[in-house]
Amino acid sequence: METKNTKAYGTSAAEAPLQSMDIKRRVATPHDVEIEILFCGVCHSDLHTARNEWHGTVYPCVPGHEIVGKIVSVGGHVNKFKVGDVVGVGCIVDSCRDCQYCKEGLEQFCEPGMTGTYNSPDKHLANTPTFGGYSERIVVDENYVLRIPGNLDLAATAPLLCAGITTYSPLKHWNVGPGKKVGVVGIGGLGHMGIKIAKAMGAHVVAFTTSQSKFDEAQRLGADEVVLSKDPEQMKKFRGQLHFILDAVSAEHDINAYLNLLRVDGSLALVGAPELPLPVAAFSVIMGRKSFAGSMIGGIAETQEMLDFCGEHNITADIEMINIDQINDAYERLLKGDVKYRFVIEMASLKG
Ligand SMILES: [Zn+2]
Ligand SMILES: [Zn+2]
Repeated sequence: METKNTKAYGTSAAEAPLQSMDIKRRVATPHDVEIEILFCGVCHSDLHTARNEWHGTVYPCVPGHEIVGKIVSVGGHVNKFKVGDVVGVGCIVDSCRDCQYCKEGLEQFCEPGMTGTYNSPDKHLANTPTFGGYSERIVVDENYVLRIPGNLDLAATAPLLCAGITTYSPLKHWNVGPGKKVGVVGIGGLGHMGIKIAKAMGAHVVAFTTSQSKFDEAQRLGADEVVLSKDPEQMKKFRGQLHFILDAVSAEHDINAYLNLLRVDGSLALVGAPELPLPVAAFSVIMGRKSFAGSMIGGIAETQEMLDFCGEHNITADIEMINIDQINDAYERLLKGDVKYRFVIEMASLKG
C-alpha cells in the first residue's frame, strides 16, 4: 500500500520522552479523507498509553484522539465531505461495521474491537499500530469523521472529541434533563465538560470537589450548587437527592458516600478509571434499588449529535494552548492536575 511520510511527535519507549519523529500514513483510499491537523487535545489516556501504564502499548507510539483539522484531499468515493471542510476525529477511526453493536451505533463496543485512533492494529498497514493526532495529518475513513459546527472556536472544540462525548453519552443515556438533579464528581478535564453539558441539558447541577478553591470555578462552569466532598455535613444535605451522578474521578475515593446521595432508582456512572477496584457496600445499592454503572466514550452518530448539541448551546472546553515541544511538561502538569481544564496542542508548531 502506498504511504506518505508524516511528521509526528511520539515516543519509542515507556520511559522515553515524546520527541519529533517521522511516521508513515497510507495515501487516501477511495473512502478516506486526508486531514491537515490544526489542533489536538491532550487526554489523560494519551499519557497512560505513551507510558504503557495500561500495558499493551506498541512503540513507536503517537498519541492524540481529540483532533480538529481541515480536509486537504478526499478519495474518489467520498461523498460526505469535500476539500476545505473543517472536521473532527475522536477516539475511533474504524470498527467491524457488522456486529450487533456497530449496527446499533455503539462502535465503541464493537465485538471484534474498534480501531482506536492510536495504538490499535492498523487495518491498512501491516504490523503497524495506528498513530494519533500529535502529527501534521491523518487519513481516516469518512464514516468515522465528524463535522464541526461553524460557530465554535476550533481549538476549544478539540477536547469535545473525547472529553465531550465521554460525558455527553452517559448524561444522555441516563436521561438527564429538566427536573433532574445531577451530581458531577471531580472538576477536571472530564468533569468540567460534564457540568457544562448537564446544565445545557436543563438539569440542576451539583458539583462535588475536594478543594475549596474550585467553588467559584464550578459555579462559573454552570453548577447550581457546589459541595465540598470532604465535609460530611455538606454531603449529608444531599442524601437521597440526586437522580444521577457522573463520577469523573480517577483517584481512589469513597464510592459509597456518593451512592448514598442517589434517590430511589438513581444511577451512578463512572467515567474516570481509578487504578484499584472501588469497594461497593451491598446496602449502598440494595437500599433504594440503585445502579452502579460505567460508560466509555460514545459511538460515531452520538459523537456527531454531541458536537451539534455543543454548537447549538455554544459549549466548548476551557483550554490552555501549548506548542508541541511543551508536551512533556504538559504531561507532568497533567499528573498534578495543574491545567484548566484541557491542554490543546497547536499543531502548526510541529512544522516550526
Ligand atoms: Zn481521551
Ligand atoms: Zn463491530
